[in-house]
Amino acid sequence: MTIDEVLSVLERVESEDLDPKSGRLFAYVYETGDENIRKVAEKALVRFAEKNLLDFTVFRSAVFFEKEVVGFAKSLMHGADALGSFTFGGTESIMLAVKAARDFYRKREGKAEVPEILAPISIHPAFLKAADYLGLKVVRLPVKEAKGDTDAFAEAVSNRTALIALSAPNWPFGTIDPVEEIAEIAVEKNIPLHVDACLGGFILPFFEMLGENVPKFDFRVEGVTSTSLDAHKYGYAPKGASVVLFRNAELKKCSMFVDVSSPGYVFVNQAVLSSRPEGPLAAAFAVIKYLSVEGYKNLASKILSARNKIYKGLKELGFESVGKVESSVLAMSNPEIDLMGFVNNMKKLGWQLHLQKGLKNYGIPDNIHLTLSPIHDEVAEEFVEDAAKAVEMEPEVDTKQIYAMAERGDFAEIIKGIEEGRLDSSVIPMLLESVPEDVAVELIKNVVIEWFR
Ligand SMILES: *Cc1c(COP(=O)(O)O)cnc(C)c1O
Repeated sequence: MTIDEVLSVLERVESEDLDPKSGRLFAYVYETGDENIRKVAEKALVRFAEKNLLDFTVFRSAVFFEKEVVGFAKSLMHGADALGSFTFGGTESIMLAVKAARDFYRKREGKAEVPEILAPISIHPAFLKAADYLGLKVVRLPVKEAKGDTDAFAEAVSNRTALIALSAPNWPFGTIDPVEEIAEIAVEKNIPLHVDACLGGFILPFFEMLGENVPKFDFRVEGVTSTSLDAHKYGYAPKGASVVLFRNAELKKCSMFVDVSSPGYVFVNQAVLSSRPEGPLAAAFAVIKYLSVEGYKNLASKILSARNKIYKGLKELGFESVGKVESSVLAMSNPEIDLMGFVNNMKKLGWQLHLQKGLKNYGIPDNIHLTLSPIHDEVAEEFVEDAAKAVEMEPEVDTKQIYAMAERGDFAEIIKGIEEGRLDSSVIPMLLESVPEDVAVELIKNVVIEWFR
């Protein structure tokens, strides 16, 4: 192909995507609406795309950028003496925190027991994935008012506990776990405590500066030993940018992998992957420098404004918040309407919402999830107007029929609907309620195999 022909293919395939700049997505992208951020990020991304983070003795710029990006993360988390590593995403940061906790546990307790992670049910699945990869077990504890329940942690700690994991905030509900309370248990029992601030790390500090009431969750809390924060979320850097921070060098060392036994080079990895482009790190640096604290504060105030408008609008339509509204996430339930129909109606009006299954045992109803970005401040009024229409609209898809199909185990039609864009993929968890977990996992793997075959 010629360059022009390749470019025309790119244009064609791109036309199938929702436009991430449109402000009509409420997850996946964190859009500011500021073209300069994109410009400065793209320049750095392209300029350093060919450099390899594998060997920082060759590419010295990697050391400079990493110290700068980690340094900014440390200042946000009030960890002047903390040590960090740059990673390609929250999952990788969490992977390293879990490995650190595992190796620290093994040093103390040996390898006899399967180490456990204690976490509220609302913890991000990256912890389940890390435990699966690294041979740990996650003990999932109940939530009270959509937050981790301190009493449940006090009861569950044992000599098998390698890590307590909490969120600030969790993704489903946007609530902040009671870090200060649970940290007391961690201190008393000398157990590492990770605060997953992948979502909140680059936004909650600025909410605090703007005078919002944000409970403490960072290194100011004694007992917090590690934390993760994603520059590619509210840091507004392009994807592939996160930081994991450790309170001391001993823990950071446990997160690393070094091999001196193989022929070839000394293998030194601070992160999970080895060869990686330097572009995302350089881009994260560029965006952080371009915005600096004032820029981030400014964007945070737009998010607060968007959140308050959308919250008020949805409340007037009969929606209720699932937990306390205290971050950049809204989780809204409405027992009066069919939420699956609502989400699909909104999809028809051009809005990509996310449907979430409730936790009946913990008093949490089904709800819709909105991760808010600065761009939403510009579209909040339009969103509320369309939400009012969507509540009244006759759903295009017969949701009763879909539930009935799921009940019968007839998923083929449902999957076709998703593939053809008639149904939103976030309906799936609602439909799998009657399917045993292992069967559901197998079913989903099969669908994905076919999707990519
Ligand atoms: C996004 C997120 C993660 C995982 O991050 P990725 O960058 O998608 O790997 C972990 N925890 C929370 C709370 C998140 O929102």
